[in-house]
Amino acid sequence: MANHTDPKKQCSIQPDTLAMYQKARQEGVETVWERAQAQEPQCGFCSLGLSCRNCVMGPCRLDPFGEGPQRGVCGADADIIVARNLARMIAAGAASHSDHGRDLVETLLAVAEGHAPGYQLTDLAKLDRIAAEYGIPADLPPQAKAKELALAMMAEFGIHKGHLTFAKRLPAARLAIWDRLGIAPRGIDREVVETMHRTHMGVDNDPVNILLHALRTSLSDGWGGSMIATEVSDILFGTPSPVASQVNLGVLKTDEVNIILHGHNPLVSEMIYRSSQDPALTGRAQELGAKGINLVGLCCTGNEVLMRKGIPMAGNHLVQELALLTGAVEAMVVDYQCIMPSVGQVSTCYHTHLITTSPKAKFPHAQHLEFTPENALERGREVVKMAVENFADRKPERVLIPVAPVNQVSGFSVEAILGALGGTSAPLLDAIKAGQLRGAVGVVGCNNPKICQDLGHTTITRKLIEHDILVLDTGCTAVANAKAGFKDPGAAALAGPGLKAICEALKIPPVLHMGSCVDNTRIMHLAAALANALGVDVDKLPVAASAPEWYSEKAAAIASYAVASGIYTVLGVTPPVLGSRMVTDLLLNGLKGVVGACFAVEPDPEKAAGLLIRHVESQRQALGLDSRL
Ligand code: SF4
Ligand code: SF4
Repeated sequence: MANHTDPKKQCSIQPDTLAMYQKARQEGVETVWERAQAQEPQCGFCSLGLSCRNCVMGPCRLDPFGEGPQRGVCGADADIIVARNLARMIAAGAASHSDHGRDLVETLLAVAEGHAPGYQLTDLAKLDRIAAEYGIPADLPPQAKAKELALAMMAEFGIHKGHLTFAKRLPAARLAIWDRLGIAPRGIDREVVETMHRTHMGVDNDPVNILLHALRTSLSDGWGGSMIATEVSDILFGTPSPVASQVNLGVLKTDEVNIILHGHNPLVSEMIYRSSQDPALTGRAQELGAKGINLVGLCCTGNEVLMRKGIPMAGNHLVQELALLTGAVEAMVVDYQCIMPSVGQVSTCYHTHLITTSPKAKFPHAQHLEFTPENALERGREVVKMAVENFADRKPERVLIPVAPVNQVSGFSVEAILGALGGTSAPLLDAIKAGQLRGAVGVVGCNNPKICQDLGHTTITRKLIEHDILVLDTGCTAVANAKAGFKDPGAAALAGPGLKAICEALKIPPVLHMGSCVDNTRIMHLAAALANALGVDVDKLPVAASAPEWYSEKAAAIASYAVASGIYTVLGVTPPVLGSRMVTDLLLNGLKGVVGACFAVEPDPEKAAGLLIRHVESQRQALGLDSRL
């Protein structure tokens, strides 16, 4: 919580957050930290995963000390209840990513059929490559190919026979493990629905069986819904390549119309971007005394437009309320996911318009302007116009933009990374084999007010690059690391000698931004490509993953598909499973013998970095490479 006496107990390590938190206190605006404090002590039963409200014979809760009830009304014990709760958490995360993916596929179909006037097929080479993976004839014209691809992807959301198409990117050995365990994902929706079915009272009461299906559900996200979201976004909006930009609340401008793009899906933000270039609207902004229209991002919508357009990033999850407190935001435009319901209330304290755009995500105190593939271009103009007109209502005496922005380079898609290496993964593998690069770690995930904002991300990242481990980041971690300066090419100086030399030769930072939360699939795709090139399964690679400050059900799904794909994953926040010794032991140890990887939980980021480094070095040793163990 926000205890400012111990630096490690401050609400954040970031100067912009600390300054704006102070302003919130002065102006009496409630933030996430006060609400978190008000929830203390949080429910012990729920924290351990020992409460169940899956039916109205309950709610039930089990006594962790063995003195009170040990079974719910239906007879479910701690192992069953904890496993069911975790499975539902993973299913909710998989559903969120996959529904986002579905929206993109529907737009792809609308583009192919000619009724999405604002959108287009931007990366035709990528369309060709993805269509080939789906077995679509190469000689079709682009519109027809896009239509076939959209229909084939839609079919993967329903009942699908065999593996999801993108799972075939993995080594055969990995698919054989999934087949042996019965966890190869079938239809994306099917696995989510089956989780909800199995966890209904009186269905699956074998905790191991429940958890195996939870892994299958997460895989339907990682190699299905999320991966589809990433690849279709690239086809529609372009595959990212390195782009210079800036980060932190200093990207807001005192003399421009500021529009924040917040949420996850690029469908809306890309249309706002186009409208913000419209000379009629920029001209109107100038008439009202603004120098121009300044688009900035937040959370993963921000990551999407940063990766492709270089639009600067205002902040990560815990900055969303504070950005409005600057008093300099004419409009916050949201799509869905990770948008706190409180932003509506905070927006009423200033002149800011909160604008919702999805029929799935309406908010208190917001104006709803619904976007569809058919009306998106027109809606984009409407939203930008509203923001521009609102500049006249800004109160300059209430404006505080607390810091100067930090430079960053973003845009490292798999294609961009391989392109920088000359088109293949061979130079990366050679550097790993030679020991110049020890390995790679994906540091990903959220902010959580239980943790000093960005301390976990930046501590782990710094330690890893010092040890010559390349860091690949996404989501809110990527924003944290950028604010810390790790994404400036000059940050090579912070890396160990091997990584430093590589970064200087390629003119890249030691921490590569691979995108939004659904773009964790870019990391999985790269890991699969490295495993194939090396002729081993993914669980043999000197790679690992970490989610130091995770909060979201989506993060639970991501961590699960990483582990089920063979990647050791260290969590900084304990998931609600400690109420079952059996489930806890399975996650921390047992899975290793089943899928070749397991979870670890380590709240201390210095120690978490130590676990990750040790894992990378022990993987090197097992491969017969030099090891610093
Ligand atoms: S499913 Fe069982 S444990 Fe859960 S609320 Fe119903 S009776 Fe209680
Ligand atoms: S990293 Fe977490 S908090 Fe950030 S946008 Fe993604 S799911 Fe939301």
